Amino acid sequence: MPQEQGSPQPTATDEIGTPSDLVDRYRLLAELSPDGLIVHQDGVIVYANPAGLRLAGAAQDSDLLGKSIIGFVHSDDIGPMMARLAALDRDGAVSGPVDARMLTVDGREFAAAVTSVRTTWRGRPAMQVILRDLHDSMTAKAALQYQAALVAHVSDGIIALDRVGQVTTWNPAAEAIYGWAAHEVVGRPVLQFLGSLPPVGQSGQVHHQRRDGTPVTARVSVSELRDLGGGPTGAVIVCSDETAKLKAEQRYAAVVASLQEGICVIGADGRVESVNPAAERLLGASREQIVGATLDHVQIWDEAGRPLPMAERPSTESSQYGRTVHGRIVGRRGPEGLPLWLSVSSRPLIDNGESPFPVVLSFTDVTERKNASAALLHAATHDPLTSLANRSVTLNAIDDGLSALRGDGDALAVVFLDLDHFKVVNDSLGHGMGDQILRVVANRLRRVAGPGDVVGRLGGDEFVVVSHSACDVDGANELASRLRSALTEPIEVMDRHIVVGASAGVVLVTDAAGWSAEDLLRDADVAMYQAKDHGRDRHELFDAELRARAVRRLQLEEDLRAALDTDQLWIAHQPVIDLHTGRVISTEALLRWNHPELGFISPAEFIPIAEESGLILPLGLRVLEDACAQTALWRRTHDELAELTIAVNLSARQLTDPCLVGGVTAVLARTGLPAEALWLEITESMLMADTENAIHVMDELRRCGVHLSIDDFGTGYSSLAYLRRFPVEALKIDRSFISSMHDDQDDAVIVDTVLTLAHGLGLRVVAEGVELQEQLDKLRALGCDEVQGYLTGRPSRASDLLPTLLLPCS
Ligand code: C2E
Ligand code: CA
Ligand code: CA
Repeated sequence: MPQEQGSPQPTATDEIGTPSDLVDRYRLLAELSPDGLIVHQDGVIVYANPAGLRLAGAAQDSDLLGKSIIGFVHSDDIGPMMARLAALDRDGAVSGPVDARMLTVDGREFAAAVTSVRTTWRGRPAMQVILRDLHDSMTAKAALQYQAALVAHVSDGIIALDRVGQVTTWNPAAEAIYGWAAHEVVGRPVLQFLGSLPPVGQSGQVHHQRRDGTPVTARVSVSELRDLGGGPTGAVIVCSDETAKLKAEQRYAAVVASLQEGICVIGADGRVESVNPAAERLLGASREQIVGATLDHVQIWDEAGRPLPMAERPSTESSQYGRTVHGRIVGRRGPEGLPLWLSVSSRPLIDNGESPFPVVLSFTDVTERKNASAALLHAATHDPLTSLANRSVTLNAIDDGLSALRGDGDALAVVFLDLDHFKVVNDSLGHGMGDQILRVVANRLRRVAGPGDVVGRLGGDEFVVVSHSACDVDGANELASRLRSALTEPIEVMDRHIVVGASAGVVLVTDAAGWSAEDLLRDADVAMYQAKDHGRDRHELFDAELRARAVRRLQLEEDLRAALDTDQLWIAHQPVIDLHTGRVISTEALLRWNHPELGFISPAEFIPIAEESGLILPLGLRVLEDACAQTALWRRTHDELAELTIAVNLSARQLTDPCLVGGVTAVLARTGLPAEALWLEITESMLMADTENAIHVMDELRRCGVHLSIDDFGTGYSSLAYLRRFPVEALKIDRSFISSMHDDQDDAVIVDTVLTLAHGLGLRVVAEGVELQEQLDKLRALGCDEVQGYLTGRPSRASDLLPTLLLPCS
């Protein structure tokens, strides 16, 4: 049979001479064998099959034939190979297979399982080497080892079964889960240990028992094992212990269920997937009603009471934009229609980058907290007695009203109301009644005020209404009348009907230019005083004239402060004549102010300003000092005036000044005037204001030796009997009685009565404002002790007065 050159078989056939052997028994097998076949004789390669050539990396026979076999064996493996070959002492003897490292023609190492067979080549002994490439089988082995390691170390239990369900593999994780060791279970039916299993090809959660009887919840999958031909060889069970997870889940569910915080899980489709009981309670619906539905229909509003559109809800922020929202306060209608305030947090459950996201919504009830802070806010902004706006809120309302003016004919009116004689009501009926009256007044004002108007109480019996309802003077007048008439109706408290009137001042502005809330309030206050001045129970509009007066008042206050230590201020003395002797017994110190620009300013104008601004304290001290110094000087320098006394007016503010008594004694000490030469004049109204304190201070002054008299007697409400409580020694009948006594019989009777009663109480009586001789004659006839008036001497500079003082008796 012809053979191609280069193929070993023809060569062999030819050379062996027994071709039929080779052809029949060997050739085909050798050619097709996946194993390499190499024949060497005397150490020289004489034959290699195609697989042998391929393993050795030879392109053709000549790369191998004739070469030493040793050149193809790794040097370390040569010795053992030689030993094995030597042991093959007869034809057909076999050694191996053994793993050996072989070399290719270009010296690359490869591993092979080598089997050597002693054979005959050309009638002589030769060695046939069978090489099985170990590369593939080694990677398979590595894979197996890798798998075995996996099986040993995975946390899932892996249990392999044979065809009849007996355990063949039971890895350490299975030992850990079930408590059975591998050696206890291998070879035994798996159902003895695991109980039930899901059907082959499926997985599921099953409840097993451990070796010690405790329950195990496991997720188990069963898959069939088949051989290459597809025949079943067994099954593999993979199981993971879910006991802890299940417990954690149960615990988590219990925690969530017991939370006060409502929790809703909302799916990506906007439908609620789960709720806890708190959420059911806070949403006012049952789980059945909530789960599966959206929350879109639940109406919520923000803290300002504005309904929250879907786009602005926390859940939308999280589901659409993946944002987390913390503690947003929203309101919803709670049970009985009361608002329920919730602090809502929302976050995406999973952020897979693709909106809408599922969302976890949690919310707590903050109604109580919110109400408490609302109450705090209310307390901070409202008058506790009447619940009306307090001063700062009222001022804010005026500010808001000013900035809301558009200049298109709209206007802002501020009405300042002050109850008439409320102090008398309060003092005579008690504060409890007074409070009740204030509450009724507040309610009436609220009722009468317009819907957008703000009604505030500044304190005491002062109320303010800020209104946009009046556009012009008529409207403002109408508003003030309406507010006042709401108060004229008698107020019923404790079975009594009390009528309180009110005086009101109104200020109306049509443009905001330059006004502050304080300005308007002050102007309304000024107008209110004007109303009081004009006889109470009426209202006055703050107009240009009043504004001019108010501006002048402010200017005077400023100028007075600057004038304190200047000679713009000086003391005039007006003589007081003793009708029994006809001599000047005393002078009254009267403050004068020569304003550098405005000229003479009456004390009737600047004294009240000094009182309001507090300037009266330094001013009063200065008057006292100058008056006492002057009198002391006169007494020292003129024998005729050695007994001269001085009368100084005290203001209400001075009477409540804790430094008064100390100040008076210090002035006396400084000027050297004896205390008994000083008379302090106190008006009736000052005694009415704070009787207890007045008595206390007057007692102290008396103890120092200073004399006290009641000024302007008859203008107040006090009776003579009332005056007995005070340590006074004289009273000055007001000018108004004197000026009319000669033509008004009533006034003459009053003066007569006052004189009689006063003398009965041991009081000296001084008549003020005596301008006419007939007044003087009448007073003398009635037994009046002293007179003071233009008739006997005008208030004058001390230097101008001296001649009058020294004048002999008239
Ligand atoms: P007053 O204490 O009743 O003083 C008497 C006022 O009557 C003085 O007005 C005086 O000039 C005026 N007068 C005296 N005789 C006559 C008269 O015959 N006819 C008329 N028509 N008036 C007469 P004045 O000086 O303008 O003082 C007004 C008020 O200012 C005083 O009333 C007093 O209450 C207050 N005042 C004046 N000086 C002082 C002061 O130094 N301290 C305090 N606290 N008040 C003062
Ligand atoms: Ca006086
Ligand atoms: Ca007087």
